[in-house]
Amino acid sequence: MTYFSESFTMQSAAVRVRFAAGIRHELAEEIARLKTSRPLVLTTPQQADAAESFAELCCCEDVSIFTGAAMHTPVEISERATEQARNFAADVLVAVGGGSTTGLSKAIALRTDLPQIIIPTTYAGSEATAILGQTESGLKTTLTSQAVQPEVILYDPELVATLPVALTVTSALNAMAHAAEGLYARDRSPISSLMAVEGLRAFRSALPGLVTDPANIALRAETLYGAWLGGTVLGQVGMALHHKLCHVLGGSFNLPHAETHAVILPHAIAFNAGAARTQLAPIADLFGDPNPGLGLYRFARSVAAPSSLRDLGLPEQELERAALLATANPYWNPQPFDSGSILRLLRGAWIGEAPDLY
Ligand code: NAD
Repeated sequence: MTYFSESFTMQSAAVRVRFAAGIRHELAEEIARLKTSRPLVLTTPQQADAAESFAELCCCEDVSIFTGAAMHTPVEISERATEQARNFAADVLVAVGGGSTTGLSKAIALRTDLPQIIIPTTYAGSEATAILGQTESGLKTTLTSQAVQPEVILYDPELVATLPVALTVTSALNAMAHAAEGLYARDRSPISSLMAVEGLRAFRSALPGLVTDPANIALRAETLYGAWLGGTVLGQVGMALHHKLCHVLGGSFNLPHAETHAVILPHAIAFNAGAARTQLAPIADLFGDPNPGLGLYRFARSVAAPSSLRDLGLPEQELERAALLATANPYWNPQPFDSGSILRLLRGAWIGEAPDLY
C-alpha cells in the first residue's frame, strides 16, 4: 500500500520528543536546556504523589506544585493555576499526567507564554497538538493556537504502567480514534497516513498483551509509541464525525472522555467505511475484517472495552437530542449524514451491538 498523493500540504510542529523507559530522570537536563530554573509542576489531585517526586526530579532550588488539574480544563482552575505561576515567577511548566493535566498546562501557556515540558501518563495524545478544549459555565469550546503547542515531550513507558487496565484500554482506543479518523482527513498527507497506520499497528500488536500483563514495559513502550503517533496525526489533520460525536456526548451529556471514544469508534468507522473504503483499507487489513468498523468492534470486544452508551449512563430518551446536537452545525465527513442516520448510529452504540454495515 502506498500513501503517495500528487498534491498535499503538511505542517509539523517543532517539538522535542524524547522516548525511553526512565527518561523522566533527565527532566532536570531538559529544564536547563530551556534555560529555565523555576518550574511549576502540574498534576491532578489523584496524581499528587507524583507531583512531589517530579518536583525532586527538577533538581531546582525552588519548585512550585499545583495539583488541581481536572477533566475538560475548567477556566476557573486555569486562572487559579496561572495566578500561582505568576506569583511564583515560574519560567517553565512541567505537566505530569493525562489529557486533563496537559490541558491545564496549555491553558496556562496560553495566558503566560511559558514553555511546557509534558510527561504523559495516558495515551490521550494532547501533548502532541496545538489544540486546547476548555469549559466555562458548562460550555466546552476548542481553540487551536501555536501558543499552546508544548515544546518538549518526555515519553516514559514506566509511567503508563500504573494506568489501570480499564483506563489503559479506553485511553488506547481514544488514541486509535485519532489515527483512524486521520486516515480519511481531507488535509491528510502521505506522512500523516504513514503515522496513522503505524500507530494503529502498534496498538493492534501490543494492547491485547497489556490486558493480562499491564506492567509489561515493552508493551507499554509500543502502545505509548502508538499514542505519540495518534496524537501527532490529531495535531496535523482535521477530524470528522467520530470526534464530533464524542465532543457532543462529553460536552453536553457529561459522558467520560476515553470511554466514549471506545464505544463510538467502531460505529463511526463502519458508518464511513463505504465512502472511505480505500483510505480505511489498512484498518481492514490490520484488524482482519473487510469492514473496518467490524474489525475494530471485535478488537475492542477482545480487550473488554466498554461497548454501550447505555453502560456509560446516557439515558435512551437523550439519543434524539444528541443526534440533533451532532448535526446542528455543518462539518465535513466522508459519508454525508443527517440527524436520522446519526440517530441510527447512536442507537446501535447505545445498545452496544456490532455496528451496522452501511
Ligand atoms: P485524564 O487526564 O483526565 O486522566 C484520567 C484519570 O486517570 C485522572 O484521574 C488521572 O489522574 C488518572 N491517571 C492518569 N494517568 C495515570 C496513570 N498512569 N496511573 C494512574 N492514574 C492515572 O484522562 P485522559 O483521557 O488522558 O484525558 C482526557 C482529557 O484530555 C479530556 O478533557 C480531553 O478533552 C482532553 N484531550 C485533549 C486533546 C487535545 O489535543 N487537546 C487530545 C486528547 C484528549
